[in-house]
Amino acid sequence: TYVIAQPCVDIKDKACIEECPVDCIYEGPRKLYIHPDECVDCGACEPVCPVEAVFYEDDLPAEMHSYRVVDREVFDVL
Ligand code: SF4
Repeated sequence: TYVIAQPCVDIKDKACIEECPVDCIYEGPRKLYIHPDECVDCGACEPVCPVEAVFYEDDLPAEMHSYRVVDREVFDVL
C-alpha cells in the first residue's frame, strides 16, 4: 500500500484524492489517509502531491516509518 506521511499534516492539498482510481484516500482532522486494504498500489497519487507526502510503504523515509503503522490503526485493519 501507499502511505501519506508527515508532510501532509495541516496541508491536506487533496490533489491525490482527484487521482485515486478507487477512491481510497480519506480525510482526517489533520491529514489524509490511504486505506491499506483498498489501495491497489497504482502509484497515481504519489507524483501529484505538491509536498511529496506520499510514499510506497517500503520506501518511507526512516523518520516517517511510524506512519505505516499509525495509518493502519486509523482503519483498524492491523
Ligand atoms: Fe489510490 Fe493508487 Fe494512491 Fe493507492 S496508489 S491511494 S490506489 S492513487
